[in-house]
Amino acid sequence: MRLVLLGAPGAGKGTQAVFLKEHHNLAHISTGDIFRRNLKDKTPLGLEAKKYMDAGQLVPDDIVMKMVADTLAGFGAGEGFMLDGFPRTVAQAEFLEGITKIDGVILFAVPDEAIVKRLTSRAVCKECGNVTNIHEHDKCPSCGGELYRRDDDNEETVRNRLKVFHDQTEALEDFYRAKGLLLEIDATGMPEEVFARVVETLNHD
Ligand code: AMP
Repeated sequence: MRLVLLGAPGAGKGTQAVFLKEHHNLAHISTGDIFRRNLKDKTPLGLEAKKYMDAGQLVPDDIVMKMVADTLAGFGAGEGFMLDGFPRTVAQAEFLEGITKIDGVILFAVPDEAIVKRLTSRAVCKECGNVTNIHEHDKCPSCGGELYRRDDDNEETVRNRLKVFHDQTEALEDFYRAKGLLLEIDATGMPEEVFARVVETLNHD
């Protein structure tokens, strides 16, 4: 199965991907994570992407498309995966159509103000990548690792990222709905509740 996880930043795509990976044995491909890894390793790709990420803007399509094409080239025909954070523009979605067939697009719907609240209190574990709340934990509740805040999780950048989502990514909802691929999920509430809705939706599809 090959899925696209669609939704605003902070809608819970990464958290749901962890559940889906366990239950459906799908590889998790997050373009944001690939950029952050490149940035940590100070590669030319990472340093170029940083300019856009810090401002909450999209990295230009040609850079992202090449990176995704290179990543997907490593997958055999029968291997399943979830794309998290890609595509984010109609041009990226059209490009994706040219390189692989997608079986479904899960749209995680959360109101903007809930997103701002989630992201400005989000902390990520340095060791295991677990996502948690900075006001509730000072160490990772899963492995005890150190927590950090993403540079782009400050309120100003979060609001920019939401604007970019509405201006450039939201159009993908109609794009995939028209193809009969869109599965809409109410992504408010606890991660386990949201995952139950995901399982139910995938089972009925
Ligand atoms: P994320 O972790 O998905 O929130 O992505 C973090 C940042 O990486 C975004 O705000 C963009 O600057 C960049 N990025 C990730 N995926 C894409 C994409 N598909 N197109 C353009 N920029 C992206």
